[in-house]
Amino acid sequence: MSHISQSIKELRSKIPSNVKIVAVSKTHSVDHIREAMEAGQMLFGESKVQELTLKQKQIPDAQWHLVGHLQTNKVKYVAPFVSMIQSIDSVRLLEEVDKQASRYKRVIDCLLQIHIAREETKFGLGMGEAIDLLSSGVIQKLQHVRVCGLMGMASFTSDMKSVRAEFRSLAEFFVRLRREYFSGAASFCELSMGMSADYMIAIEEGATIIRPGSTIFEKN
Ligand SMILES: *Cc1c(COP(=O)(O)O)cnc(C)c1O
Repeated sequence: MSHISQSIKELRSKIPSNVKIVAVSKTHSVDHIREAMEAGQMLFGESKVQELTLKQKQIPDAQWHLVGHLQTNKVKYVAPFVSMIQSIDSVRLLEEVDKQASRYKRVIDCLLQIHIAREETKFGLGMGEAIDLLSSGVIQKLQHVRVCGLMGMASFTSDMKSVRAEFRSLAEFFVRLRREYFSGAASFCELSMGMSADYMIAIEEGATIIRPGSTIFEKN
């Protein structure tokens, strides 16, 4: 058994069965992705549009999430196939996804990316901006996107206490938004947080989707 199948099996045995694994395959080869599929992993995440579209052409039977920053002018390349865009960080981007999805008669699942880390460089909406977006009434008008929840990345630090605090604040914000803006909508149900270094903490704090990459694809 390859180290990739091995690590997927180990990962699955460690986490609750209702938590979805998005195997982040950026920089990893198509052959390695196929090895993961042999272990039953069908859901992958990529952070760059070009890499995503190239890999999707070679492996169309996998399910693909975009987890990295998306420029408005590149939405058209992923709209025909992407199964979720986890990195919505503006109204303008959401409107463009809606427009492109309608050309393919699709409804694209999206997560709002919320900035929870201390670093300035990470993309995402501030909590106030997310509330502005949700109270603007724009989402209710868009027929070809479905806002399914939130995504966030913790600070790049070995201080697991602060990582946990960031995940917890995102989880609390998620519960608040669900109550205040999505009452009755069962589709607002996904909280994507946790990567290789911190997925266990993320699950303890309420993640429904984790995004491990290196722990699956790299030998350790
Ligand atoms: C790269 C990346 C991951 C995976 O990171 P690892 O540390 O390799 O597990 C998860 N989410 C996003 C948004 C990423 O860019």
